[in-house]
Amino acid sequence: MRNYYIAGNWKMHKTRSEAAELARALVAQLKDGKYKYLVAPAFTSLETVGAIVKGSNILLGAQNCAPEEQGAHTGEVSVLQLKDLGVQVVILGHSERRHIYKEDDELINKKVKLALKHGLEVILCVGELLEEREAGKAEVVCETQTVKGLTGVAAADLGRITIAYEPVWAIGTGKTATPEDADVIHAYIRKVVGKLYGADAAQNIIIQYGGSVKSENAAQLMAKENIDGALVGGAALKADSFVPIAKFG
Ligand code: PEP
Repeated sequence: MRNYYIAGNWKMHKTRSEAAELARALVAQLKDGKYKYLVAPAFTSLETVGAIVKGSNILLGAQNCAPEEQGAHTGEVSVLQLKDLGVQVVILGHSERRHIYKEDDELINKKVKLALKHGLEVILCVGELLEEREAGKAEVVCETQTVKGLTGVAAADLGRITIAYEPVWAIGTGKTATPEDADVIHAYIRKVVGKLYGADAAQNIIIQYGGSVKSENAAQLMAKENIDGALVGGAALKADSFVPIAKFG
């Protein structure tokens, strides 16, 4: 039985003191929450937020990592450095990384394997652009990103992978995929995972939905058979908007 997994991606928001204030509020308000929870602050707030969520039911996540363990990579942050800060999960392949910073599937796959090698969990984001959806290519785009993102990932490590389906046209735009449309893609991604790893793996993998999730639409999305949680951006920046999503239902 899959449990729901609700994650907040704080993106490039919040100073350390602002991040600390939000983390403290979430620890207090989610302590009786029954789902799996994650917050992913900016790198600069990881240590501060990590100290606050330590021992709570909220995991500490990073929003990216370098494709190499160490070396001459100015401006990058290594998985070893993240682990050193207590990071447990890394979000990879977010559409802002794919489309603004031009990360391709090969690079993302390298990061996925490196994070798994060092014991981290991964949220692998996939999702189509508006023009791809309009051209009827949503499924094939998500299939390609899933297959390439998971290339070389052993079945034994799949339990540490969550997939987040995030249609790019729904991120930060206020446009949410309908629960029905999202569920079609989630079911398709589950089928792709089944083809790669078998029926049990397909049944067990957690597939989050991301794209303008709010308290008003969370329950309808999560009621769908293949939607197992949410990766939340804008609404994750305040306890007042994140907690109702995290405690939906
Ligand atoms: C995201 O960036 O992963 C996201 C889903 O953002 P928003 O909730 O703001 O659409």
